Amino acid sequence: MSENPSRRAPLLAVVGGGQLARMMAQPAIAMGLPLRLLAEAEGVSAAQVIPDQMVGDYRDLALLREVTDGAAVVTFDHEHVPTEHLHALQADGVAVRPGPEALVHAQDKAVMRARLAELDAPCPRNAVVSSLDEVAAFGLPSVLKTTRGGYDGKGVWVVRELAEAGEAFAAAEQAGVQVLAEELVDFRRELSALVARSPSGQAAAYPVVATTQKDGICHEVVAPAPDLDPALAAQAQQLALRVAGALDVTGILAVELFETTDGRILVNELAMRPHNTGHWSQDGAVTSQFENHLRAVMDLPLGSPEPRAPWTVMVNILGGPDDAGRLWDGYPHALARDPQLRVHLYGKDLRPGRKVGHVNAFGDDLTDCLERARHAAAWFAGELGNESE
Ligand code: ADP
Repeated sequence: MSENPSRRAPLLAVVGGGQLARMMAQPAIAMGLPLRLLAEAEGVSAAQVIPDQMVGDYRDLALLREVTDGAAVVTFDHEHVPTEHLHALQADGVAVRPGPEALVHAQDKAVMRARLAELDAPCPRNAVVSSLDEVAAFGLPSVLKTTRGGYDGKGVWVVRELAEAGEAFAAAEQAGVQVLAEELVDFRRELSALVARSPSGQAAAYPVVATTQKDGICHEVVAPAPDLDPALAAQAQQLALRVAGALDVTGILAVELFETTDGRILVNELAMRPHNTGHWSQDGAVTSQFENHLRAVMDLPLGSPEPRAPWTVMVNILGGPDDAGRLWDGYPHALARDPQLRVHLYGKDLRPGRKVGHVNAFGDDLTDCLERARHAAAWFAGELGNESE
């Protein structure tokens, strides 16, 4: 029988071989969508599961062209591909999703703040500063951030005295970027509003979640955010949808928010890819953020973001200061203790502070979900010994 090429699935290129690309592979298998990966090194998380792959530097345009050769669309596991390369790929006829004009708002915090101000989106008071005098004029305490290249709390300094500001300027100078000053927000907690948006303009908003950070790294997510004023939740979802539309985001947009002690929401930052605060959706929503990211970048109708259970708790598994983590060896106890538990391991080696996996627990009772997910994550991370069994 001859193959009908019109029925063949288009190829999706994915740049970046971390756990986000790895978790895109799962719905891609189910959808029959072929992926081709550009991995930064052999054997990294996504390279273990996507056979059609190349290994090399995402800053190398020739390599990006090779990876996207024959691909209908290219998407990303991270936001670091240089803007000029994204324009070059577009000129080659590849659909870049999210596109360079949108992505720059997730790459550069000063650009993001300026655009959000134009959109009247509520933000902490902020200014680009270029000297200690300007920091003093801005006012202390404040939060200094390098405008580009930060992640997981790296590139963020809480400055209470002027002498502490030097480190931020040194880091910015070394990286060839600027420093953004923000007011130190007095927040009750951090929230995240996640939406998927397709090039056709269809959008789907996930329930707003509460997130807890540990040392600048997302540690725990509760979906939906407990005791969140429904009006504030709706405002956060509408804000995320409005930003996604205004910036022409395609794929997942995560809007990280502060809920202030006086009941307002302020935007902390934007991410344009599946996000740690959306991992709960793999087991807790009708359509996971990873599937909706794929549907969105392929311009297919989006799936329902509705929760499957009243509560879902996600807890990350982080490498500890020693190598006590169990990973595979954690399964017998964790799975026997909780047959409802969902575990996601990324195929990464344990290193202090490194995200190596997460667990999801869903159900009718929040306290029970929290206990189950925390216990399992601590167990995999090696924080619980035999005495706790
Ligand atoms: P990253 O790019 O590393 O994710 P963020 O800008 O999200 O950096 O900042 C990391 C963490 O620092 C936030 O999750 C929050 O806990 C804290 N933070 C950032 N900005 C502020 C601020 N203006 N006021 C108070 N805390 C902040």
